Amino acid sequence: MNNCPNCLANNPFQKVYRDGLVFLKCEYCNTIIENTTTTRRTREVSERLRNEVQNDVQKEKSSGKVLAIGIGLMILYFIIDTISKLY
Ligand SMILES: [Zn+2]
Repeated sequence: MNNCPNCLANNPFQKVYRDGLVFLKCEYCNTIIENTTTTRRTREVSERLRNEVQNDVQKEKSSGKVLAIGIGLMILYFIIDTISKLY
């Protein structure tokens, strides 16, 4: 049950969207309160997304390192192969 903290009306709130956040507006006295549950969930989701992006970046970095090492080993192998053919 949501009661308006200002006029104490019983569940008078309408959802208002502002800056990507959801607020609750009392239709009797126009008091706007933050919809904390939705806001918290939005923050958690955006934080989780940010973490996933960072993980992806780290994964990409490490896979890039592995690729660079592989290419380096291949070049080294070709150099050794070429030198061994020369002598
Ligand atoms: Zn009110």
